[in-house]
Amino acid sequence: MSLAKLPLPAQLRGVRAMATAAPRPALSGLSAAAKSKAEKISQDWKGTSATGANTKNFIGGEFVESKTDKWIDVVDPASQTLLTRVPETTPAEFEQAVDAASQAYKTWSRTSVLTRQRFVMDLQHQLRQNGDAIATSIVLEQGKTYADAQGDLLRGLQVVESATNIPTALLGDTIEVSKDMDTSTRRLPLGVCASIAPFNFPAMIPLWTIPMALATGNTLILKPSERDPGAAMIISELCQRAGLPAGVLNVVHGTVPTVNAICDHPSIKAISFVGGDRAGKHIYERGRASGKRVQANLGAKNHAVLMPDANKNHALNSILGAAFGAAGQRCMAISVAVLVGTAQSWLPELIERAKKLKVNQGFEQGADFGPVISPASKERITGLIASAEEEGGIIHLDGRGYEVPAFPDGNWIGPTIIEATTTMRCYREEIFGPVLTVITADTLDDALAIINENKYGNGTAIFTQSGATARKFEREVEVGQVGINVPIPVPLPMFSWSGNKASFLGDVPFYGPGGVNFYTQNKTTTALWKAEDAIGNKASVDMPTHH
Ligand code: NAD
Repeated sequence: MSLAKLPLPAQLRGVRAMATAAPRPALSGLSAAAKSKAEKISQDWKGTSATGANTKNFIGGEFVESKTDKWIDVVDPASQTLLTRVPETTPAEFEQAVDAASQAYKTWSRTSVLTRQRFVMDLQHQLRQNGDAIATSIVLEQGKTYADAQGDLLRGLQVVESATNIPTALLGDTIEVSKDMDTSTRRLPLGVCASIAPFNFPAMIPLWTIPMALATGNTLILKPSERDPGAAMIISELCQRAGLPAGVLNVVHGTVPTVNAICDHPSIKAISFVGGDRAGKHIYERGRASGKRVQANLGAKNHAVLMPDANKNHALNSILGAAFGAAGQRCMAISVAVLVGTAQSWLPELIERAKKLKVNQGFEQGADFGPVISPASKERITGLIASAEEEGGIIHLDGRGYEVPAFPDGNWIGPTIIEATTTMRCYREEIFGPVLTVITADTLDDALAIINENKYGNGTAIFTQSGATARKFEREVEVGQVGINVPIPVPLPMFSWSGNKASFLGDVPFYGPGGVNFYTQNKTTTALWKAEDAIGNKASVDMPTHH
């Protein structure tokens, strides 16, 4: 279906609504501590601002002001204070970015793998040195707590560190297939690649793709989320400081027009997308239609199964942390708890513990989680809570109307726990907010049936002290990432991401060995060098017989 015919997605409606609602002027709504941090971000970094100036495009090694007439306000979700304005990169600027990446590819793809390894090593050093700035930008634009923002960076940094192994990862195979005849494979880059990121991990997701694409010899066009591009801009500048030649990484901005330009451009060979179902399906189909390799990580509904023999304290704390951390805006958030048998009697304690969680601006002491990303997102989430009420669910803990006195305009939603059934909207749809839906099941088999019927397959977890129960669950559950007494089983990058079912479109997953495969193509060469032709052999004087 043509995208023009689809209604505007909720988050873009939100952006428009925010833009017309006129954000609070720069710096005016920030705490004193946040204000000085915002000023420092604007002073120290060329591509981003937290004091109301414009975010730049990064093209051919330069941070350049866009000539667009379409700007998107980025505001602090705790106070609606203007931080920066993001351009909808113009078609001409987009073309310049692709040109820069195409030119740079000619030399970058031929640099030695040790040069590219050195870049990745220097990038990890730069990221460690400047982690505070990246985490600060994330708190301001995205709203998560400072500790959580550091985790966002750390999980990306782990991918950078794993990419320092690139010489070994790119080793090919050779075998002598016949006398004096060798067949070998070489892993070669694809060309110009593109990466389209979501709002919820502004550092981690760009860092899933930048090191893997560049270390394998590709050049990259990155389009960060238009809602929080600051971390990506700082990371781009750090790539430059780490010695990355001009044009190897370029950053463009915007929404549907920029994304469609990526999908359609014939010089772009591959797209890595992380985000919601609707955009992901569109990008996958449009990108594939123009012959591109596409990997698309999509939405999720992750269930935690609580067995009666679980270590109760560990299980309840793990479920709460995974449900409410980052205000539930993680693709691996536990959004459904399945209480099995007598574990159902633990529900009151789960609720009591959830009540103690503190919601506040991300720099404030004691904040467990922050606001949700936008007023539109808040409206969507509170609408889903209301739908549970209408459909007969029980709202045990209601986060609607949560107030933070120092930040009256924030997109606050307190921890919410709903007892529901699998037919209700709050169960069927991804909520992406601080809402835990509780479902009851009589047996492990019933819990497995619930999870396996769910369309998504990103993550799941079981809490039990029985190895046999855990093993049966792990073997039979149809979900790609399984935790046993581990609430958020995101594989570290010696493995690859392995979400499945409706949580993934494509064939080759992100980072780890999958990342190397995604960003490379094999060339297989068969060569014959006859031993008798070696220079220095004696000439044959016999009558040729053609044998
Ligand atoms: P989103 O789909 O709204 O946006 C992601 C990217 O796509 C952004 O860069 C945005 O500009 C672009 N985009 C949005 N709508 C578009 C459209 N109609 N056409 C073309 N491009 C469009 O996602 P989000 O709200 O930023 O992120 C949250 C979603 O991402 C959740 O569904 C979450 O589960 C998912 N997510 C998945 C993973 C994973 O690994 N599976 C990780 C993080 C987030």
